[in-house]
Amino acid sequence: MNHINWMEEVLKRKEDFIKDLQGLLRIKSVLNENDKNPEAPLGQGIKDALEYMLNMGNKDGFITKNVGNLAGHLEMGQGDKLIGILGHVDVVPEGDGWSVDPYGAVIKDGKIYARGSSDDKGPTIAAYYGMKIVKELGLPLDKRVRLIVGTDEESDWRCVEHYFAEEEMPDMGFVPDADFPIIFAEKGISDYDIVQDIGTSTPNADFKLLSFQSGRRYNMVPDFAEVHVQMNSDLGKIDQEYRNYLREWELEGDVSANGNELTLTLVGKSAHGAEPRNGKNAGIFLAKFLRSLGLDAQGKKFVETISSFFNQSRGEVFGISYQDEESGELTINVGIMNYTKEKGGHIGLNMRYPVTFDIEKGKAKIEETLKKNELKMENFTDSKPTYVKKDDPLIQTLQRVYEEQTGEKAELLAIGGGTYSRALDHGVAFGALFPGREDVMHQKDEYAIVDDLLKATAIYAQAIYELAKV
Ligand SMILES: [Zn+2]
Repeated sequence: MNHINWMEEVLKRKEDFIKDLQGLLRIKSVLNENDKNPEAPLGQGIKDALEYMLNMGNKDGFITKNVGNLAGHLEMGQGDKLIGILGHVDVVPEGDGWSVDPYGAVIKDGKIYARGSSDDKGPTIAAYYGMKIVKELGLPLDKRVRLIVGTDEESDWRCVEHYFAEEEMPDMGFVPDADFPIIFAEKGISDYDIVQDIGTSTPNADFKLLSFQSGRRYNMVPDFAEVHVQMNSDLGKIDQEYRNYLREWELEGDVSANGNELTLTLVGKSAHGAEPRNGKNAGIFLAKFLRSLGLDAQGKKFVETISSFFNQSRGEVFGISYQDEESGELTINVGIMNYTKEKGGHIGLNMRYPVTFDIEKGKAKIEETLKKNELKMENFTDSKPTYVKKDDPLIQTLQRVYEEQTGEKAELLAIGGGTYSRALDHGVAFGALFPGREDVMHQKDEYAIVDDLLKATAIYAQAIYELAKV
């Protein structure tokens, strides 16, 4: 059975593929907590999208199951072993600035435009058609294959949490919700806060830190920071010193004074928290400047804690620098910085650690360092890394299929995380964005290139067959 022309099988079904995809894209499946009921716990739009998939599966002869209206599956094949394919049909809100209807699914110049076309309805339908082709060709399988449809990927993953509490975990699988070729390693992701309680006051300090604010999300490098300082001396040379500082580091910002209250703002450069070096952290730059001011003891400690992270995004601050061959370096992003003189300081960190890093030991080391500095850790969360060995049969099969279908080498990618594949015990992210293509997920005028989706469908069809065949 090695002579199946998978692309030809896809092209025979092109019209139906587009029709089925358009139907799904026209459902506004955005999380809506104001429109929920026991039958539609994440809102009616999301429920409609889930039912759309299950109805399509029923019509095409798959065994389907709705799991708590949060997820569902469509199954074919037979045997004890289970291959899982995990996609999602919820989408992020469309936002502003579209040049077409975000739920119109119009096709222009070979691109289908809609929220969800590339994340993740297009790839999910591609995987579905991959299964459908294998099924319609009547190929013998000795494993079951299940398309698992999640509905809360863009928010809290309540879908997979509920689904895997009730349903079996696949023996292996893949997730069409990221990039081709294959993402085989994703770092662990841990968020936590450094907390500074209020200390003794320093009434005679020249400057007193009143408040400091920068950043709102753990996983972003903040591009804006603002501080309010009370001056017990006059403005003096600060104005000039601050402007020199901004010029030196090629930053924007402002100084203003109102009575004896000084306000400084700083504009840095935002970036994804997975690589802090790609941004200019506004909060860290501002804290670094404030160190020179002669602040009150409590304020001084806060800005010194933050500025210790200046150019130190690899865990140096806690003595936990680490890297491995599989997934690279440990990184720490300082995403949120808040201080008021009444409440003290909160610093929110986003740490991405390599797949072979011992997180329990790392956490203990961080806590020890903080304790020495009379600081503490709060709100620790941890999403474990995911990693499949390069010589694993899953990887080998997907590599071979990808190379056969595309003629390109199937490089294995390691990323800072985190894709939906970490919901599987033994799975990788596999498509559907091809190398070199523009990533328009979550953006206005999101689109998918129709020919790319069809190519992805051929890859998925062959992959499903190769993984499940007798
Ligand atoms: Zn997605």
